[in-house]
This record gives sequence, C-alpha cells and structure tokens, in this order.
Amino acid sequence: MKIIDQIYINGAFVKPTGTATFDLISPTTNQLLGRVTLGNEADTHQAITAAKAAFPSFSRTTLEERRNYLQRLHDEVMLRMDDLVAASIAEYGAPTQRALGSNQLAADSFLHYKKVLEDFPFRKIVGHSEVVLEPLGVVGIITPWNANASYICNKLATAIAAGCTAVIKPSEMSAMQTQIVTECLHAAGLPPGVFNIVNGLGDVVGNAITHHPDVAKISFTGSTQVGKMIARGAVDTMKRVTLELGGKSANIILEDADFSKAIPMAVAACFMNNGQACIAGSRLLIPEQRLEETKTLLKAAVEQVKVGDPAADSTTLGPLVSRKQYERVQQYIQLGITQGAAVLTGGIGHPEGLEAGNFVKPTVFTGVTRDMRIANEEIFGPVLSVITYKTEEEAIDIANDTVYGLQAYVSSSDEKHARTVADKIVAGRVLINSLNHDPMAPFGGFKQSGIGREYGVYGLEEYLEPKTIIV
Ligand code: NAD
Repeated sequence: MKIIDQIYINGAFVKPTGTATFDLISPTTNQLLGRVTLGNEADTHQAITAAKAAFPSFSRTTLEERRNYLQRLHDEVMLRMDDLVAASIAEYGAPTQRALGSNQLAADSFLHYKKVLEDFPFRKIVGHSEVVLEPLGVVGIITPWNANASYICNKLATAIAAGCTAVIKPSEMSAMQTQIVTECLHAAGLPPGVFNIVNGLGDVVGNAITHHPDVAKISFTGSTQVGKMIARGAVDTMKRVTLELGGKSANIILEDADFSKAIPMAVAACFMNNGQACIAGSRLLIPEQRLEETKTLLKAAVEQVKVGDPAADSTTLGPLVSRKQYERVQQYIQLGITQGAAVLTGGIGHPEGLEAGNFVKPTVFTGVTRDMRIANEEIFGPVLSVITYKTEEEAIDIANDTVYGLQAYVSSSDEKHARTVADKIVAGRVLINSLNHDPMAPFGGFKQSGIGREYGVYGLEEYLEPKTIIV
C-alpha cells in the first residue's frame, strides 16, 4: 500500500499538520491502493505565505529565465512518464493510450508556454498610452481527478509564463499521480515558494484558498456546482477566476455526413476517458430519416469497444473512478429507462465478469427527447443519448438548448456547410469531423460551462493584469 504523507511547501516536502487521511481505492478492483494524509487550513495558509514571499522576486525574472524553467519542467516530467502513466491507470482507471495522451499533454504544456513566451507582448502601445501586462500575484490552482497531471501542469505552466506564483490543490483522489508530478516539478529546481502543493479536501484546502486575501486569482477545473461556490467565495476579495466547468456537448451529424465514419467517431467522442470528460459528446443529434442506419452503425461501433482492465493494451473503456461515480451513472441509466428512452445497447449493471471494479456497460439510448434528464444533465460516464431532428435549424436549436456551452461536434462531408453550422453553435469550441485538441488555441465554456479561457495566449492573459501608463 502506498503511503503519501507529505505535502510540498516552500521548495521542500514536509509533513502536513493535518492528520485526517483519505483512502485511495483501485477503480479496477476496489482494493485499497494507498492512503494520503490530508493538509488542513493551517497547511494551506503556510503554502500561501510561501507563494506570497516568492512572488516579488519571481515576478521580476526575465523571460529567458522563465523559458528555461519551463524547459526544465518539461524535461523532468518526461523522465517520469512511465510512472505517471502507471499511476493514472492504477488510481484512475485510464486506459493505457488515454493515460499516455493526457500525461504527454501535461509535459508538453510547459513547452507550449515556452513557445508563447517567444513573442508575447508584455508591453504594448495602445492609443497614446503604454500598456504593461503584470502578473497577478499568487494563483490558487484547484484541479479535478479526470486528467490530474495535465491540469496541474498546464495551469502551473501558465502561472510561470506570467510570472505568478502558485498554491495547487489537486483532487484528493489523484494523490499518487500528484506525488510523482510534485517530484518532477521539485527536480526542475525552481526558487522555493514559486509553487506549493497541498493535498486535501475541497471544502478544507480548496475553501481556504478561495477565501484567502493573499490569493489574487483562482484557476479551477471541475464541476459547475463547485465552480459556482468558488466564484461566490472569490468575490469577497475580488479574486480573478478562470472556471473550466461541466458540459453536455452536442454532436450534430448533418445529412451530408459520411455516417460510416461519423458514427464510430461519435462513440469515441462520448466514451473518451471512460466517458468522464467535460467535453464528452454525450448528445448525438441525427436526421430523423437516418435513425435505422444510425442504430446499426452504433451497435457495430459499440461492439468494438473493449471494456476491461485499463492496463491491458486492447482496452478502450476502463472503470469509472469511484464506486460513487459508478452508482451515479447507474442512477442515470435507470432514469433514462424510467423516463421512456430505449436502451439500444448496454444498460444497468456491470459487464459480465467485471463485477469487482466500477465498470459500466457502454450504453446508448435512442428515443431520447430534449426534455429528458439524460439529455440535459452531465452524466460523466459512457452513456450516449441519441436525439433525432427534422431540420438543420432544429438540430442547432437542440444543440444550443442547454445551460452548458463547452464544446460541440459537427460532422459533414462539406466543410463549408459544417462551418455555417459551427457559426450558430453557442459553445467555446466546435470540432468539425475531428476529435483533436489545439493546445495553442483558447479553450473554455460559454454559459454555465465556465468563465475565461485556458491555453496559449488567451490562457496567459488570464494571469495578467493590464496597467496603463499615460505620460
Ligand atoms: P469537483 O468539482 O467535485 O472537484 C474539483 C476540485 O474542486 C477537486 O480538487 C475538489 O477537491 C475541489 N473542491 C470541491 N469542493 C470544493 C470547495 N468547496 N471549494 C474549493 N474546492 C473544492 O469535480 P470532479 O468530480 O473532481 O471533476 C469532474 C467535473 O469536472 C465534471 O463536472 C467535469 O465536467 C469537470 N471538468 C471540466 C473540465 C473543463 O475543462 N471544462 C475538465 C475536466 C473536468
């Protein structure tokens, strides 16, 4: 069993003063994997003090120095890639390919920000004034469990590029991954206090960060519910917030799409990360007259999904992160049935032979109407809802009929056509015939999917405050 009883403050691994512990449970077997000692409010305050003390000097580092730090951080994370992948599989149930992808993105985020610093204008002339973009100060970074290292690294890379210092509270469920990431970051040799990492619960450590007057900004990724709590808490000290929250992304298959490609891609868009992705394409919108053909293609695509041990190379769908998450997804599947949707494939219960872990049958519902809860709420599991539309206008209307607005997908054999649809979608990102990520382009949500943007230049600006100088 892995014991994690240290947090990272002011350049050193230290024992927290907090004594509460949290058990890390394998999603694959539900056996005990490890135990983490949680930091408390006093630990958080110490971390903030260290970050505050490090800020004046770190904010004055040259761009060259910061670019060197970013390179070193990347190199150190790369050295531990195998360990990170193993921990992601063990602790979170990510299938190997997914674990590789998200941890590679973690390492690369330092290089992306090194690149942004090549020509980012920290000083510019606007009107007859000089505008100086200054780092905000101490940034609080609060992350979820569903790609732990990539959130920690991308947010920290942005902070370092800006000249901010950071206090990081990762998800308590990802402590093994966090431990490895922290060792990598430590090895890069940044000045003490530039980043501090405190394992702990959201309502203890996260709450302490949210309310502390010396924290200038919070960068949060997680649920819309917690994002709202953080925004409310942050307002007392007028903290800046970047909130990356939930989603219920629509995937519009246009009449002119190649269905034989679009439907398997739609299954992948929904089931990515075991269905636990904020950008999961969980609402599949298809022309009414193409329903039968779609059903056949969906069944065939789901048959290709290999559910099982996430460590096995052939697995494409691993278990859900926790028993709680498993129960929640089961409730949604039941709700779909109760509200009158038809199970095309999957349904209640574990796949046969996988009863020990939090495995869910990859499930597709047809006959879903836009008023059903499974069509509106984020399920965070491998559950796809198929909704039919009569006209393109109706498809766009259904796609936009949600409190969320993180991502949408459009499939068409005519790119121009797809772009006209993309223009009418209310979401922060629209993928046309694609499942790609662009780490240099802004990412974030419209409506209740969030506030602000991450990645590239747009992400950096969120950690900077413009100061105008008029002579
Ligand atoms: P969560 O909101 O439960 O937790 C996220 C983080 O917030 C954790 O570190 C948690 O400990 C902390 N937290 C909890 N309560 C807090 C409080 N009162 N104050 C401060 N911090 C608190 O989310 P989760 O279950 O870890 O992750 C899943 C959610 O994250 C989904 O809704 C998903 O859509 C969302 N998500 C969004 C994005 C995005 O980029 N938009 C990416 C990944 C996940």
